Amino acid sequence: MTLAREKDLSDRQNLFNSLAIGNRRIFSLTQVHSRDVVFTDVCGDDHGNNKGADGLITAEANAVLSVTVADCLPIFMWSSDYSVFALLHSGWKGTGIVIAALRKIRQKFGIEASDIHCFIGPGIGDCCYAVPKERYDLFRKEYGDTAVSMHDSHFCLNLREANRLLLETAGIASLQIVNNCTCCSPQLGSYRRDGKEGFHNMMALFGRF
Ligand SMILES: [Zn+2]
Repeated sequence: MTLAREKDLSDRQNLFNSLAIGNRRIFSLTQVHSRDVVFTDVCGDDHGNNKGADGLITAEANAVLSVTVADCLPIFMWSSDYSVFALLHSGWKGTGIVIAALRKIRQKFGIEASDIHCFIGPGIGDCCYAVPKERYDLFRKEYGDTAVSMHDSHFCLNLREANRLLLETAGIASLQIVNNCTCCSPQLGSYRRDGKEGFHNMMALFGRF
């Protein structure tokens, strides 16, 4: 376990060096599929050893935020004046973390949702995201009919649509969404497709470059 962790960290450092960000303050999290978001000025940059949370917010110009995903959505947020930016990890359980992030940005920096832009990166599509009926029902109740769908008699969730609804209802300035499904796209990492032993995590990075 320790060896795997050390190898993981050296792989990360090699990646950061290859991107010429090895000397930047890079923040990561122990992701726990929550709706908890933390500020970088209180969480430290100790490469994944931060307390369990699934979103990072910063106003530090030198910061680089990171989350890992393999079907869950990486969600990028930034203010119109580029002073504040955030990176979130959002799966079905953490859906709603976008609202928690908008609230925290408003509380700390006084920036309203109407001054926040969002980009949703690749994640699992409803084409492949079959779940138990109870979860489908819960999601439908919470986020409406368009956030779920049926595929080949399977009950499926549409994470992108749920987030689109939340963000547009909140009144954000702009939203771009990547529609590639991780499970359908062999070049992307998918837990659902490759299983616990075989899947590859993808790292999303967000900073000023
Ligand atoms: Zn798919």
